Amino acid sequence: MVAVRFRCGHGAAPDDPSAVGIRRACPLCMLLDETQRTRAELLGRVAPAQRRPLMAETRVGAEYEWQCRRGHDRYRATVIDVLTGTGCAKCRANAAGAGAAAREAGMPFMKPGLRVGTSMTEQRLRALLGERIRLHHRANAVRTARMFYGRQEVWPDILVAELRVAIEYDDPGRSGRAHRGLKEGSDVEKDAVLREVGWEVIRIRAGGLEPLGPYSVVCRTVNAQVVDEVVRLLGVIRGEAAVARLRIGGAVAS
Ligand SMILES: [Zn+2]
Ligand SMILES: [Zn+2]
Repeated sequence: MVAVRFRCGHGAAPDDPSAVGIRRACPLCMLLDETQRTRAELLGRVAPAQRRPLMAETRVGAEYEWQCRRGHDRYRATVIDVLTGTGCAKCRANAAGAGAAAREAGMPFMKPGLRVGTSMTEQRLRALLGERIRLHHRANAVRTARMFYGRQEVWPDILVAELRVAIEYDDPGRSGRAHRGLKEGSDVEKDAVLREVGWEVIRIRAGGLEPLGPYSVVCRTVNAQVVDEVVRLLGVIRGEAAVARLRIGGAVAS
């Protein structure tokens, strides 16, 4: 195996002459970023004897021994399990009571412990959309029929759960590279996984991104017109009558 050194500094030792440099953060640093956690937070949860290897860990599937924050027994779990939910089996059993009904594919559900990075623009989009239609605030994930990045679920930006439509906001980000190249392939795959279980996806494509998929809103910035177009597309996808039931303040003149 070729030794790889990531931009975050993890991976092969700096003095390894055979190491290949990669211009992105390691998978673990990327997941920390996406779930708005820090490595220090993660190190605070691992069994003390395993802190040192976890400091340099790059793999999200690596197993460690963790201490439950609610005082349950120590448990073994992968880093991704700890970062995206309740790694402790006892905590999970406690949460399962509420979540058991939402296990089937296509069901939206509230995933406890999940915090996915939300930009100011996404918050603005959610607020503007929330002025027009009722949004299901108790769901942040959708159960899928097959695995997507090692999980049988996806985490769209916004869920219009009653209509089974996910709304994703994409822009190239500060790097100018987000949602392009490999990430675009991943976006297409995420949409396919959602469609398989009866969902549709509307993508808002800002900052010069091209349309992606059948329901794209290409724009410079998120404003009232963009949100009007999203509501119009909801009607195209699920029918005006279904959208009318979610409208806030009755019929809106158009
Ligand atoms: Zn890293
Ligand atoms: Zn626990």
